[in-house]
Amino acid sequence: MIKTKAYGAVDKNSVLTNMEIERRTPHSGDVQIEILYCGVCHSDLHTARNEWKTTQYPCVPGHEIVGRVTAVGDNVHRFNVGDLVGVGCMVDSCGTCPSCAEGEEQYCESGFTGTYNGPVFGGENTYGGYSQQIVVKESFVLHIKHSEAQLASVAPLLCAGITLYSPLVHWKAGLNKKVGIVGLGGLGHMGVKLARAMGCHVVLFTTSLSKIEDGKKLGAHEVCVSTDVNQMQNYHNQLDLIINTVSVPHDLNAYLQLLKRDGSLVLVGAPEEPHPSPEVFNLIFKRRQLAGSLIGGIAQTQEMLDFCAEHNIVSDIEIVPMDYINSAYERIVKSDVKYRFVIDMNTL
Ligand code: NAP
Ligand code: ZN
Repeated sequence: MIKTKAYGAVDKNSVLTNMEIERRTPHSGDVQIEILYCGVCHSDLHTARNEWKTTQYPCVPGHEIVGRVTAVGDNVHRFNVGDLVGVGCMVDSCGTCPSCAEGEEQYCESGFTGTYNGPVFGGENTYGGYSQQIVVKESFVLHIKHSEAQLASVAPLLCAGITLYSPLVHWKAGLNKKVGIVGLGGLGHMGVKLARAMGCHVVLFTTSLSKIEDGKKLGAHEVCVSTDVNQMQNYHNQLDLIINTVSVPHDLNAYLQLLKRDGSLVLVGAPEEPHPSPEVFNLIFKRRQLAGSLIGGIAQTQEMLDFCAEHNIVSDIEIVPMDYINSAYERIVKSDVKYRFVIDMNTL
């Protein structure tokens, strides 16, 4: 076992604090990684505070991990000591069910193993990226092709990036498609950048007047203030696809009405309490679809990282020391982050 410093919560009411955890000594197919930066996802906060009612404690969050390989097992062939690598939301899955066979490990029928909080259907706890080291099976480690100078800003791609890239690809975003992104947070700002790079006409929907200019700078062709009924009216029946990243329950009808016939509203935000059920007529009269999407498979995560390296896409970040995490969580709740906190692990 390898002892390593970490930062986590001991129960749902506690602030995050220093702790020591153990990592396994690398098995033959394992990669040992020194964590250099870790992004802060809203899911970290949902989990640390047990908002989804599945948290095992102690809870060490963090699934936007970038770092350097420090050791590899005998049977590791794709990574060498010194490589820059990433680890996202998953560290294992059954590998044999139809979803795994199709490279959609996030939908593993036995439940994938989260980078933190263990297997989704229960089992031994796992500890995430708010720590100095991690040991991960080779097949769940990603190559990073961005320059080393961009490393901190690459971290958020490992969750926020893939969570938007995957539905954009699945629902065929591209040229001549009008795509809406709802919420300009960590996920949303990646959605704006990715949809723009894919050639879509991008409309950002935000509740924050202060984010209008940023939305345009990040790549949105148009920005609509979603609390303004008149502005929303302009988009009725206009959009092919809307990806909704909002982390709190809200009225989905306002967005369903913006879809063209056969358009899709895809939920990726995962609030603590459910959204009110939308009006059925908003779906059946235009054969609209309401769907959801969970991160993305490992192969697609690599595809997304390569796409971002090629298009020079990274996240807009604020680098913070580890002991700022509790203040960072408070600011995330207030939507006061531009647009992702990334922890400098040297400060742990
Ligand atoms: P975030 O940075 O906090 O962004 C959420 C955005 O939602 C905010 O910036 C804000 O955008 C909007 N928002 C917040 N409160 C709101 C309110 N009361 N009313 C309307 N809009 C509000 O969070 P994130 O890290 O992007 O994560 C977003 C959600 O996705 C979380 O629930 C997270 O757990 C979930 N998630 C899901 C997946 C998946 O695989 N499906 C993966 C990662 C995360 P504006 O200021 O622009 O309105
Ligand atoms: Zn996440």
